[in-house]
Amino acid sequence: MSGIKVAINGFGTIGKRVADAVDAQSDMEIVGVTKTGPSFGCDLAVRKGFPLYCTFDDETRISRFGEQGYDCAGGLSDLLAIADIVVDCSPGKMGNENLAKYQAADIKYIFQGGEKHNLTGQSYSSSANHEENLNAAGTRVVSCNTTGLSRTLVPLYEHCGSLKVECTMIRRAADPGDSSKGPINAIKPVLKVPSHHGPDVMTVKPEIEINSLAVAVPTTLMHMHSIIADLPAGHGLTTESIIAMWRDTPRVIVMHGENNRITSTAEVMELARDIGRKWGDLHEIFIWEDGVSLQGDRLYYFQAIHQESDVIPENVDAIRALMGIEADWRQSVAKTDAAIAAYYNL
Ligand code: NAD
Repeated sequence: MSGIKVAINGFGTIGKRVADAVDAQSDMEIVGVTKTGPSFGCDLAVRKGFPLYCTFDDETRISRFGEQGYDCAGGLSDLLAIADIVVDCSPGKMGNENLAKYQAADIKYIFQGGEKHNLTGQSYSSSANHEENLNAAGTRVVSCNTTGLSRTLVPLYEHCGSLKVECTMIRRAADPGDSSKGPINAIKPVLKVPSHHGPDVMTVKPEIEINSLAVAVPTTLMHMHSIIADLPAGHGLTTESIIAMWRDTPRVIVMHGENNRITSTAEVMELARDIGRKWGDLHEIFIWEDGVSLQGDRLYYFQAIHQESDVIPENVDAIRALMGIEADWRQSVAKTDAAIAAYYNL
């Protein structure tokens, strides 16, 4: 064990994935993960050899772990005391309470997209603003949707110098492991217009003018984005050169839907399972080549987002940014992704 000491507060959908991705890296290590109480999720921490802590310092809650046969190393304060940085993977909207604990422990912190930008005053997406986050006290890795939008829009913006975007987020109703969310037989619009997803891109790339609408649909697999981007006159791009640009962009997969018989999110997730990362994760944003069309200066495209995992490698890059150990986002991305691939023997 060596390197940056990373604590994971909240070992749920995102937390367990970030823990694995950190464990894969040679320059950082997991010093502990928290659970609110004993549950089947503790078994994964035990199998991985990650020290298990209680989310709270309350002795009664800590002792419950032992009663169910789990070895609990202490409360959150004990974990924060031995860590350099904490990745907060709590369910969202718990940021204020948790931030106070991190500041009291005087360690760096990373929140997730369920928290608002105001909490940290700083947000993160690897390709958009890694440098701005160098040596910061804390940041927020933007949500899965905002990460997806940033991945494909930032390279376009960097080529064009300006970009106006309208997009619709067609969102999965629940993660596969959730039994309490919906809808199960409806299409539910987000009646706050515009939705927060598009404007959230501006927390990492303020130069992109973007608005969004969102609906939730009864699927658990992925989100889909339907995107219209107006490019400035004289951009010099074609449909083919835009596709080539995305093929060269890290963490983006472009495939021809019809030729590859990969015409829906069901087949995209089957491809992800073939790749072989744990949980069938897809860290990349998926673009259908035959769904991309530049008409005049207006670009149309679809992309699919694996909501549970596109933000995972971004958390690793964010750790490097905050700890100030890699200034070049491309170097960090290459290192993160190569280590994850080696970890899973891909
Ligand atoms: P989750 O419910 O799967 O996991 C949250 C974990 O935190 C659970 O283990 C829970 O017991 C624990 N927890 C509860 N209270 C806590 C507290 N006070 N402090 C610390 N931990 C606590 O949630 P998730 O899906 O992993 O989401 C975590 C964060 O990541 C949220 O901000 C969410 O918006 C964001 N996010 C989720 C997804 C996704 O698709 N699941 C994608 C991107 C970002």
